[in-house]
This record gives sequence, C-alpha cells and structure tokens, in this order.
Amino acid sequence: MSLTAPTPTHAPATPSSPANLLVWIDGKLVPKAEACVSVYDHGLLYGDGVFEGIRVYAGRIFEPVAHLRRLYDSARSIRLDIGVSINDLQKAIETTFRANGFVDCYVRVVVTRGPGDLGIDPNKSGKPVVFIITDKINVFPPELYARGMSIITSSYIRNHPNSTPPRIKSLNYLNNVLAKIEANDAGVPEALMLNHLGNVSECTADNVFIVRDGQLRTPGIDQGILEGITRRVIMELAKKLDICCTETVLQRHDVYTADEMFVTGTGAEVMPVTQVDGRPIGTGTPGPITKRLIEAFHAHVRQS
Ligand code: PMP
Repeated sequence: MSLTAPTPTHAPATPSSPANLLVWIDGKLVPKAEACVSVYDHGLLYGDGVFEGIRVYAGRIFEPVAHLRRLYDSARSIRLDIGVSINDLQKAIETTFRANGFVDCYVRVVVTRGPGDLGIDPNKSGKPVVFIITDKINVFPPELYARGMSIITSSYIRNHPNSTPPRIKSLNYLNNVLAKIEANDAGVPEALMLNHLGNVSECTADNVFIVRDGQLRTPGIDQGILEGITRRVIMELAKKLDICCTETVLQRHDVYTADEMFVTGTGAEVMPVTQVDGRPIGTGTPGPITKRLIEAFHAHVRQS
C-alpha cells in the first residue's frame, strides 16, 4: 500500500472548509465526496472492522503510541491484518491533518475487513480498507462543560466480555447506539451502561469516574469497558495531584451517592456529570476535584 499521498491540489494554510476536506483512503488523499467504500465492504455489511478516535492538539497527535497500539490490538483480536505498519499509519495521520490545515482536530482512523461477498465469512474479503478522516468535533454542547450534564441509565447493557469484548474498539457500536437513542428520548446527552452483572461499566462513548470522600473511583477493565486513553491520562494526572484513584466495582448506589462524577473520552475530553436518572450528584454542580482534573487535563494536552 503506497503511503506517498499525492500533494493535495491545495495545501491550505488555514483549515479546509468542511466541504473541501481531504480524506486519506488506502494511501491516497482524496476530496471527502470521493472517499468511498464498497457496498460489499464487510465493515458496512457486518460491522466487521475496527477504529480509533484520536486528537491532535497544537499540531501534535495526542498519545499516538497508545491509540495506535489499541487499534492494532483491536485488529489482532478480530484477526484482521491492517496491512500498514504502525509507523506508516502515524505518518498518514500526520499527512492528513496537515493537508487539511488543522492544528487542533479530531482524527478518525477506520480499518474495515474490506469488500467480500454477501456471506459472513471474513476469508472471502479481499484486503482491508484503511481510511483517515480529520475534522472538528463537538461531542457535547460547549456550555455543558461549565454546568455539567444530566445522564440516564440505559436499559441496554454493555457487551458481555464473551460477546464482542468491549476492549475491542470495533465498528459494531449498535448496542451503544441503542443506549444513545434512549438518552436522546430522555432529552439528555449521554447514557450510563451497566454490565451483565448489573455493575456500572461506562457510558456510550466515555469512561466513568466518581469522587467519594476526596478519592476517585472508576470501573476496572474486568467490568467490561473500553480501556480509555483519556481515562488512563486522568488516572496519571490524579496521581500527580495526590488524588487517590481506585479501579473497582461500582454499583448504581455508588453513583447516586457520589460527591462528584465525570466522564472521559477523546471526543468529550473531561465532562462533569451533575445528574443521573433525575438525581443530583453531590451538590448538583461540577465538584472541586472534577474542576482540578479538567484544568490539569487542558494544561497537559498542550504540553505533551
Ligand atoms: N468507552 C467507549 C465505549 C468509547 O467509545 C470511548 C471512546 N470514545 C471511550 C470509552 C473513551 O476512550 P478514549 O478516552 O480512549 O477516547
């Protein structure tokens, strides 16, 4: 697969307008409207593929090693050979956001099984399709970061670890989409998902933290979560700030009786949660530890 992206016909000094964005697909940069995959692609027909959501801050990919490692682990877990080396994929990401003139943006890397026949057998797919989209992203309304958001508990549980394991960032997010629909119906921006045991796992696209008695608590990997990279960064920042953080089992009771709560994700960054299922969390406003961590996170992403 060639990685020498053709020099874009325009190399914008300022970010491309949304209609003119260039997308990297199988080694070429093409205008967004021409970036297409086959209707026979198993990523589309069966959710058969993996992806990553990554940020670029101040012209640098945030946590590139962790994101690319998770992508390649996800691919390995579904027996998908990406066919491009990690180094080359990182270069392709850089090529793409620079070609679009971005200094701060969101990056979506997608690897599908590729076009096959209409049967489910992945061996019938030829070679994987790899594409990279760079764009601006607003997962939640900006005003919520200061106010905190209300969420509900979804009736849909997070995938059982022996189903499609939540540790795989697969293209099959239908379970989470169903939970998000429940959130939409309830008029809130996110939904909390429990696991098959009824314990807290995570939200539809974010990891969950609570604060109790000055200490952070978050569900462990064994609770059926995606090992969030923002989650790990927050745990490291907490350590530097002398805030104790434990990975543990959380039940809804722990959430309802928490002093503070927030969620983390590449798209969301760090978002306070001030109400769950109509109940105020703590004082019903973003708490002091949440605010400290938000501040530390913003400082960190610009330095690293
Ligand atoms: N959980 C799920 C289900 C996700 O899709 C994501 C990514 N949006 C996260 C957690 C957060 O992970 P990260 O911090 O690596 O983006």
